[in-house]
Amino acid sequence: MPRAGEVDLAVAGGADGAYALGKLTSVVLDALADGATARGGPLPDGGPTAVAERLRAACAPVLPERGTGAEEALRTVVRAVAEGAADPAHPWCAAHLHCPPLAVAAAADLAAAALNPSMDSWDQAPAAAVLEQDVTAALADLVYPGRAAADALVTSGGTESNLVALLLARERARAAGAATVRVVCGANAHHSVRRAAWLLDLPEPVTVAAPGGRLDPDAVDRALARTTGPALVVATAGTTDEGLVDPLPELGSVAARHGAELHVDAAYGGPLLFSERLAPRLDGLTAATSVTFDLHKLGWQPVAAGVLAVADGAALAPLALRADYLNADDDGEAGLPDLLGRSIRTTRRPDVLKVAATLRALGRDGLGALVEHCVDAAHAFAALVDAHPRLRRRPGDIGISTVLFRPTAADAAAPADGDALVAEVRRRLLTEGRAVVGRAVAEDADGTRRLWLKATLLHPRAAGEDLAGLLDLVAATAARTSTTHPQEPEGPR
Ligand SMILES: *Cc1c(COP(=O)(O)O)cnc(C)c1O
Repeated sequence: MPRAGEVDLAVAGGADGAYALGKLTSVVLDALADGATARGGPLPDGGPTAVAERLRAACAPVLPERGTGAEEALRTVVRAVAEGAADPAHPWCAAHLHCPPLAVAAAADLAAAALNPSMDSWDQAPAAAVLEQDVTAALADLVYPGRAAADALVTSGGTESNLVALLLARERARAAGAATVRVVCGANAHHSVRRAAWLLDLPEPVTVAAPGGRLDPDAVDRALARTTGPALVVATAGTTDEGLVDPLPELGSVAARHGAELHVDAAYGGPLLFSERLAPRLDGLTAATSVTFDLHKLGWQPVAAGVLAVADGAALAPLALRADYLNADDDGEAGLPDLLGRSIRTTRRPDVLKVAATLRALGRDGLGALVEHCVDAAHAFAALVDAHPRLRRRPGDIGISTVLFRPTAADAAAPADGDALVAEVRRRLLTEGRAVVGRAVAEDADGTRRLWLKATLLHPRAAGEDLAGLLDLVAATAARTSTTHPQEPEGPR
């Protein structure tokens, strides 16, 4: 067994670190390729028990008495995790807003890990802090074009962005002398909105109807008329399941009429702004006080890459905080920038580095083209579903890049059995390692809420046609799935 040698104990940074890192990175890249080859599909076969057994056979014990050395450890662990991965780089891994990261972003993330700037004080991140300032300014300008006061924060994702947005709204309400703020959101809002209200101890959010998946401005109007005190309307631009965009201009007017504020959760849809053709779908966005958007969905960043943009940077003041070891008054007076108020976290990864590399490499044009590709791929995929004799698409608009559909065999069964068949087809595809498709409950043409399979097209290269085979697989799987006697998942292929 190799002894802990030079490479095992090498640090990643500095000029020497680059040498050790290069050596180990080549081990990692080989292990990634080996693992993907061994998997041979979008996810491992055999289901949870088989995956756990394979992983443990390779990686146990996870804390050995004596180490195996860096190269062996990387070869073993990386290969095992890659072999057992649900790999969004495979076109048939299309369930969630789980993107295949661009290689340029993943490579930049390696630099972030090696340099390890922590974004909570200038003396841990002198240049990274400047980069973050400029990237957030550019992203704020993307959301609020030409508005000099606009600003943006880097967050860990939509959940944190929504939490901070509600926190800032509550603090504005308190500053105005109110006890709290009342959230008014749609039945279609992301669960993180209600969870944020719970975490912040806000009153129970008023949930407003969202017929057809979009928030109804008249219903918001009525809800606001019944609400006393400060209110925050939370709209969604790109619902997670259907990619639907709430009517932002109408919601902006309704909120303004009642003196309420508007927050838009554009975690999914925000990057439409990169495309000249698609940006108009977000018309009305600039009426929002704050906007959530993610770059680890449409944006092709490795997790995490979230953004919260605010129309007026002064809104961020409540996040300011003094901690003598990070931002002492005299350091500030002497000119050291204060970064602590840029997040609710303290130690914080420089997620901006991969974002900066991606923005520079692709430009707004390049990113816009990738977003357009996904939107076009969803339409092509929908057309394939429509043409398929044994599948049916959910009637209605295609949102951004998700398509809901189900086997017609599910319609022949009693409603509960039909939904059970849809669920069973999805699980079979998963446990057999054939495809990762999502599930969503949504209204059918007759108003009944049914279970659908969901394809989320987020692959920046794969075309809708790459999923044609997936449709035949879904139909064939439905044909051999009985609803009355759901079969046990089969063993390995
Ligand atoms: C994904 C998503 C979120 C949550 O974002 P995370 O990055 O997963 O924390 C919030 N809102 C919407 C609409 C989303 O699609």
